[in-house]
Amino acid sequence: MISFCLQKFIRSAIALPLRRTSAPPLLANPRRRLRNSIRRGSHAGTRVEMDENVPAKASINMVVGDRDLLEKKIAAIRMAGPQKLQVIADFDATLTRYWVDGLRGNSSHGLLQQGNPKYDAKRQQLYEYYHPLEYSPTIPIDEKTKLMEEWWEKTHGLLVEGGLTYDAIQKSVANARIAFRDGVVELFELLAKKGIPVLIFSAGLADVIEEVLRQKLHRSFTNIRIVSNRMVFDDDGRLVSFKGRTIHSLNKNEHALDMAAPLHDTLGDNDGPVNDNASVKMRTNVLLLGDHIGDLRMSDGLNYDTRISVGFLNDNIEGSIDCYSKSFDVVYLNDAPMSGVVELVAQLFPTE
Ligand SMILES: [Mg+2]
Repeated sequence: MISFCLQKFIRSAIALPLRRTSAPPLLANPRRRLRNSIRRGSHAGTRVEMDENVPAKASINMVVGDRDLLEKKIAAIRMAGPQKLQVIADFDATLTRYWVDGLRGNSSHGLLQQGNPKYDAKRQQLYEYYHPLEYSPTIPIDEKTKLMEEWWEKTHGLLVEGGLTYDAIQKSVANARIAFRDGVVELFELLAKKGIPVLIFSAGLADVIEEVLRQKLHRSFTNIRIVSNRMVFDDDGRLVSFKGRTIHSLNKNEHALDMAAPLHDTLGDNDGPVNDNASVKMRTNVLLLGDHIGDLRMSDGLNYDTRISVGFLNDNIEGSIDCYSKSFDVVYLNDAPMSGVVELVAQLFPTE
């Protein structure tokens, strides 16, 4: 099931915003259709909890495929304690909202404007060429992986060649249509309080993600690390290269801990505990947050004991609900806030 879903649902983090800003066509009606189809029992075996009394805009729709299994996992993680848990979270459309002000939110790649229209257009051309290949059902996975490498590396090359500056990143983020889900700050605060590290794992751009955190959260968290494509700037703040191997949509399972860099290094906050890679590897229970089936592979590099996976199903709900509810332990529908995850963490460790 997972491999099937992986092929079906992998989406690109490199997607540019230029032609992906249409108004959400499925914001209200699918929820109603989904509710009706669930009431009709078309999702047999899937337990659905919904508060019909909450206004649609604020409602949280949650699907748990196997309640008994989830309860066993909660008990196991609770028994092991917070010192054994780590959170691995995708960034785009997982920590951030899928819809922002009625339009599709920007990704960390997509929000970037180089300050050079010629190069923005060239990146858009790459998108138009490679994006259909990414979805092609006929290209073997090995070949597709090479194509994704090509796409990411050419895009990174254009960012260097086009003279991207850190100043342009700051301006792009300030002008971007991007917002964290409600409850993300509460989640980070709760995890920090309990000493639980968060690994944000993204095929996007680490420096952009950090700038989004800086501008939107207005504070730093010493328990957060970013694993993503990281830029190298010269003394004038101009991009000269990228560090390490490229993380793209099809190899997001590989480099997690080796590429981790503490967020506080770049935010100038050197206080608080630092978890090195070795200690993170000792944390053998995982709370994984993602918005695509492929995000489940973010924990592949860990030999974990227990993993609770939470999926945010933001779009194409009727077409994807069966696959998501069989693949994730918990699925939140309709671009839900993070409050359910906050409650889950509070439920895991109520007294510590
Ligand atoms: Mg995502």
